[in-house]
Amino acid sequence: MEQAIAKILGDLHKHEDHSGLVDTPKRAAKAYQFLTQGYAHNLDEIINGALYESNLDEMVMVKDIELYSLCEHHLLPFFGKCHIAYIPRGKVLGLSKFARITDMFARRLQIQERLTQQIADTIQEVTDAKGVAVIIEAQHLCMMMRGVQKQNSLMKTSVMLGKFRSDDRTRNEFLNLLR
Ligand code: ZN
Repeated sequence: MEQAIAKILGDLHKHEDHSGLVDTPKRAAKAYQFLTQGYAHNLDEIINGALYESNLDEMVMVKDIELYSLCEHHLLPFFGKCHIAYIPRGKVLGLSKFARITDMFARRLQIQERLTQQIADTIQEVTDAKGVAVIIEAQHLCMMMRGVQKQNSLMKTSVMLGKFRSDDRTRNEFLNLLR
């Protein structure tokens, strides 16, 4: 990766001698490794037994989970917030795990639509919930800094599973809690 980045820097800096770039290939390679570390994680290690028996069958919501990812089309960041809700069926998941699951998928090359779906499917699979809802609101630097240069555009994606999909009242309760 370092060699490839050195090549890119060479192409970008054909006409300049830039001593500040000497260690950039090493630093950038390390940064990309960090930003894609989600590939090295797996679900069992992340959940690590934090699934608890419970009679609770009311909606549980975790709001405003910070999210940083890289778009797979331009390798530029997109970032924003993830909101997750679920309705347990006999099992509840430790609260911190929602953020860990979000990070496991966000720290990969992504598109926002797939990221949203993967988080929702994973929580459904792990908890066997009656329903799962995930909404991501994010700003994409590939939109803001290049192309159409729309600085204030916010992309929203949502995935509703189970009761959130089939029952309007459940979905509206979730959307109201988000407001
Ligand atoms: Zn992009």
